[in-house]
Amino acid sequence: MNRGVEKKVYQLEDLSSLVDNVPENLQDAVTQIHYKMISHQAYDNNRYVWSKDDFELGTPLGKGKFGRVYIARERKTKFLVAMKILFKSELVKGRVEKQVLRELEIQSRLKHPNILRLFTWFYDDRKIYIALELASEGELYRHLKASPHGRFDEHRSAKYTYQVADALNYCHLNNVIHRDLKPENLLLTADDNVKLADFGWSAHTMSNKRKTMCGTLDYLPPEMIEGKAYDDSIDQWCLGVLCYEFLVGNPPFESEDSEKTYAKIRRIDLNFPKFVTLGAKDLITKLLRRNDMRISLKEVMMHPWIKENKKKPSRETFARRKP
Ligand code: AMP
Repeated sequence: MNRGVEKKVYQLEDLSSLVDNVPENLQDAVTQIHYKMISHQAYDNNRYVWSKDDFELGTPLGKGKFGRVYIARERKTKFLVAMKILFKSELVKGRVEKQVLRELEIQSRLKHPNILRLFTWFYDDRKIYIALELASEGELYRHLKASPHGRFDEHRSAKYTYQVADALNYCHLNNVIHRDLKPENLLLTADDNVKLADFGWSAHTMSNKRKTMCGTLDYLPPEMIEGKAYDDSIDQWCLGVLCYEFLVGNPPFESEDSEKTYAKIRRIDLNFPKFVTLGAKDLITKLLRRNDMRISLKEVMMHPWIKENKKKPSRETFARRKP
């Protein structure tokens, strides 16, 4: 099933209707941007071959294991993207060529407001270029660590949990399991919305139960530790761990060494600090349980604690990226 956004092709005469809801002082600028976009050779043309010459590179946004990410601007429209540049030689050395190809294939198919869009990708002899939606506030993890006491208030926790549940639900409807949910794999936009990124570990499900061990230690579900087959409900487990980490500042089964973490996860040895409210505890305990008993992502989005808190105003203003 594909719930992808249907593409609307605009003509010049449609432009005035596009600015109906735009403040008057910005209407001219927005019309001009739209004009440049629909006049671009690539507009409504799947066969347009993008290359690095279409983009101007700006400052680095961050560094990953296999390359760097830069802010970049499409030359004709001035549209801003995040350009991830990977060195082929490093991918071969790290034996991750297949993982990267899988990430490209999966991410380019997914179109959802809370999933980082992959606009296009291309390569030359040495490098692979991936044009991604810009999430200018960077990793959510950095915001979590910069928050008072290293945790989010209930509003931000509920809002981000809702957005991630919505994104994961869309993935599952498209037979994709993310498998590596954690705050480091979530990015934040300038208007404070979460984007699910990093599909390197994700897999097409096609109803087969899978057995590969992957993901981050603190986020591993019991069925994976026990080497059992698992299904898309592992993402619900990870969502429970994530929501706990948002509210408490560290993941629920964190210990001094990995053996202790494994043991706690197997026993689902879950404890909450006093400040966690009843509603939040209710949601988290319904996610952090054996796989056949976890609530669905739809139920997460409808949960009373989520509904009540996601619309509350936040007590915090979110820390902006340092210039
Ligand atoms: P990655 O190679 O995907 O791990 O990215 C490395 C770093 O680049 C991340 O930790 C972010 O700080 C930054 N980054 C990656 N993608 C984006 C994006 N789409 N928008 C803004 N920053 C990004």
